[in-house]
Amino acid sequence: MSRVLVVEDSRTFSSLLSRRITEEMGHQVVVANSMAKAEAILAMDTDFFVALLDLNLPDAPTGQVVDLVLARNIPSIVFTGELDDELRDQFWAKRIVDYILKQNMDNVAYMLSLVERLHRNPAIKVLVVDDSQNARFVVGELLRAHRYQVLEAEDGLAALAVLAEHPDMRLVITDYNMPNMDGFELVRSIRRDHAKDQMGIIGISGADKVGLSARFIKSGANDFLHKPFLTEEFYTRVTQNIELLEYIAQIKDLAEKDYLTRLYNRRYMFAAGPKLMAAQTRRGQGVVLAMLDIDHFKRINDTFGHDAGDAVLRQMSALLTARFRTSDIVARFGGEEFCVLATDMNPADAGRVFEDLRQSFESSPVSFGGQSIPYTVSIGLCTSALEGLEAMIKAADDALYVSKNDGRNRVTLAGR
Ligand code: GH3
Ligand code: MG
Ligand code: MG
Repeated sequence: MSRVLVVEDSRTFSSLLSRRITEEMGHQVVVANSMAKAEAILAMDTDFFVALLDLNLPDAPTGQVVDLVLARNIPSIVFTGELDDELRDQFWAKRIVDYILKQNMDNVAYMLSLVERLHRNPAIKVLVVDDSQNARFVVGELLRAHRYQVLEAEDGLAALAVLAEHPDMRLVITDYNMPNMDGFELVRSIRRDHAKDQMGIIGISGADKVGLSARFIKSGANDFLHKPFLTEEFYTRVTQNIELLEYIAQIKDLAEKDYLTRLYNRRYMFAAGPKLMAAQTRRGQGVVLAMLDIDHFKRINDTFGHDAGDAVLRQMSALLTARFRTSDIVARFGGEEFCVLATDMNPADAGRVFEDLRQSFESSPVSFGGQSIPYTVSIGLCTSALEGLEAMIKAADDALYVSKNDGRNRVTLAGR
């Protein structure tokens, strides 16, 4: 269970925070209304992924609670009624996650988005590239305070080696002036293999060279930071770039996947299918394509209701997903019609594979609303790579039509 510590003496504010964190995010919240209470809680248990700390507590009026919590290595977001510049810099130096002014309700939304950010960051890899060990350490510490996974490289060549090992790197923060391969060259080589919508790059430099930021961005970086930078500025840039990648991933997901079943949609099959077929052909391997359609699905809706029909679609999709590899494409083409493009399947075995699948549908009725709903599926199969995806779909569809005509709940091989 992911847990959040809230230290706040105002009951109104602490209950508002706990309610929203619990209900909207599903984390468990532990509230302390004083520094003494917080100390007692932390003496027993320090398993919190973030702490939200009021700087003005009756028994800790100037933020003493921050040292208490940070000493347990718990990332801390501090909030307060007001904060002068000097005090704010002191807290930044302690490695807080962020500070938030309390007056404004909009700031609560920001605080909650930060909590969510910190919850997600441990899954996000960031590479820091700089020839100065000290500079890498400083940037690394800032990132670790936000719970990112930090990797380091001392120049462009080393960076490329790290990226080859970690293709899931989300962000690269690179210096400009480095031996062997400078920042621009590094950015250009990264962009040969990693598109801007997959991996963010932020250039950093203290060099007083005119046009550095423009050249970084023209080389393919997303952003640039001039050294020395403010901690707050660093975090806003990093967060913004990570969020941008997440938005793009969400949009892609919406465009490629079906909402009800989470399978790929027809559009994705037509975009990715031909590439998958070409890759298989290059490797001297074939593909198998199947069209599947639930039998008398209209009757299921009419008998058990539309929600029950949806449950059947979801369960059938889960069975399909479990049966095929992630390298295969399993798509919902619409309604109760599905298409599977399977790789690395011996055409001679395909009939048996899909016959097993047909049997598993037949023998797995769906439980819904206290009822057991049986369903069957008709399948058309094309096992020879015809001229292309569309030709295979057409052949499998014709075979499916034969399955329907022959009495449904069966597999028909195209061309037989
Ligand atoms: P056949 O065996 O010939 O395939 O008969 P069928 O009833 O399965 O085929 P038909 O194409 O006549 O009907 C499909 C039904 O699927 C009609 C439509 O209302 C229903 N349907 C389409 N999309 C959804 C959905 O997302 N959820 C539910 N519950 N039903 C859907
Ligand atoms: Mg049908
Ligand atoms: Mg139909």
